[in-house]
Amino acid sequence: MIVLDRVTKNYNNKSPALKKISLKINAKEFVVIIGKSGAGKTTLLRLLTREERQTSGKIVVGGIDYDKLKDRNIPMLRRRIGVVFQDFKLLPNKNVYENVAFALEIVGKTNAQIKKTVPRVLEIVGLTGKEKSMPAQLSGGERQRVAIARSIARQPKILIADEPTGNLDPKNAWDIIKVLEKINKYGTTVLLTTHNQEIVNKIKRRVITLKDGQVVGDHAKAEYKHT
Ligand code: ADP
Repeated sequence: MIVLDRVTKNYNNKSPALKKISLKINAKEFVVIIGKSGAGKTTLLRLLTREERQTSGKIVVGGIDYDKLKDRNIPMLRRRIGVVFQDFKLLPNKNVYENVAFALEIVGKTNAQIKKTVPRVLEIVGLTGKEKSMPAQLSGGERQRVAIARSIARQPKILIADEPTGNLDPKNAWDIIKVLEKINKYGTTVLLTTHNQEIVNKIKRRVITLKDGQVVGDHAKAEYKHT
């Protein structure tokens, strides 16, 4: 479970990027976070991955109180949280298989574990058969699938997808949402940020709206209607 209790983030002396945000997100939930540019979405995600520290308030993720988290335990925390971005961040000189395998190599997985895991995650994202393709040979949607495969290979408890459909056309965008829903069905908590109004309207999930660093909407599943 993710708990934020009156969390404020102040980068400088200007208006805080987040103002006393309180939120509870259950394990295995799928949550969409929306809001205009500057609303505080990225800041919220960066607090969760501990790239930034809150100015005040409490953050507890999977029982870990971020105030008590030691620096040496941050890598362990980050392994529990997978992240995918709008711009994919693939290694251009490695093929699909190698991109995913590399994420496992750097955390010390054995060759046997890698050989078992990579085909499995490529299957989940629908890329079986593309193992040898280089990123430049793939469509945007396929590249995002590689990025997702890489992030789930370490079996994170939480998957953060920060505008994963930002560079994709509507068909590919929706396919990526379907992949995220599949991963969620297997038991991973998914936090998705998006600007894509069509996705927001279509998706039957909890939608949290941020505005000027505050939660101004929190609507469960199908009841959500954007006005
Ligand atoms: P969003 O992701 O919704 O566009 P952000 O979290 O990026 O919003 O930004 C929220 C506010 O915090 C904005 O006013 C932005 O200018 C400010 N901000 C974000 N990152 C930094 C930073 N590293 N230093 C200073 N201000 C920042």
